[in-house]
Amino acid sequence: MPELPEVETIKNELEPRVVGRVINGVTLFWGGIVRQPTANEFLSRIRGRRILGLARRGKYLIFNLDGDEALIVHLKMTGSLLLKPDSSEAGKFTRAIIHLGGGTELYFRDPRKFGVMWLTEDVSSVVNELGPEPLVADFTPEVLAQRLKNRSAPIKALLCDQSVIAGIGNMYADEALFTAKIHPLRSGKSLSCDEVERLHSAIQKVLWAAIGNKGASVDSYIRPGGELGTAHYEFQVAHRLGGELCPLCGSPIERIPVRNRGTYFCPGCQPIKA
Ligand SMILES: [Zn+2]
Repeated sequence: MPELPEVETIKNELEPRVVGRVINGVTLFWGGIVRQPTANEFLSRIRGRRILGLARRGKYLIFNLDGDEALIVHLKMTGSLLLKPDSSEAGKFTRAIIHLGGGTELYFRDPRKFGVMWLTEDVSSVVNELGPEPLVADFTPEVLAQRLKNRSAPIKALLCDQSVIAGIGNMYADEALFTAKIHPLRSGKSLSCDEVERLHSAIQKVLWAAIGNKGASVDSYIRPGGELGTAHYEFQVAHRLGGELCPLCGSPIERIPVRNRGTYFCPGCQPIKA
């Protein structure tokens, strides 16, 4: 699933290609991709809108449009936004095409069909459940400590909980916990001040590094121009397979389920007791 670094990369790479352009229309191949309003209203209201700017909140990509409207996209498990793929055919996984002025076309491709679009005048009504953004200046170790206080859930689950902190998913939670040397099953409230500080700096470090590498193409993630991201080449534990050894201590990396999410960690570097 695309996480914060992947959505940020998509935003950065689409920005120069779409901002300022008018949406001439949208072709929907599968109406279920529109969550709000109805598909017909979506098609009529979006036509003629100019894209004023792009933004990201958590894993949501927001196209700010004129007329105080916003097109919000969530790629979920397997969605991607592609600028006019080489083959001019839509392909069977293309769920929508956004036709922009100047001949630019944006394909919403999504094999698993979990991806969603909203057209709304009230962005907060879609994204209001989200916790703080981890890469903004006012996300301090104190803010993270506050979010984890009194929480008995495993820290891995808390990091993936979008209402606790926005944008982190399975891959970057595993990488941040490894970097901070914290076992994924530790409860949020059990972390010491020192551990919360380490985790805070680890979160920012792994997310910034992944943005620098244009995201991780481990599953279906692909950049708008069709290129892959390379962030996964730097993963220390995430998506490692059985038998692979920890790059720091040489212990075999383990995979355990945490709230049904496959979780990779190093039992040597991330002991269960601090
Ligand atoms: Zn290790």
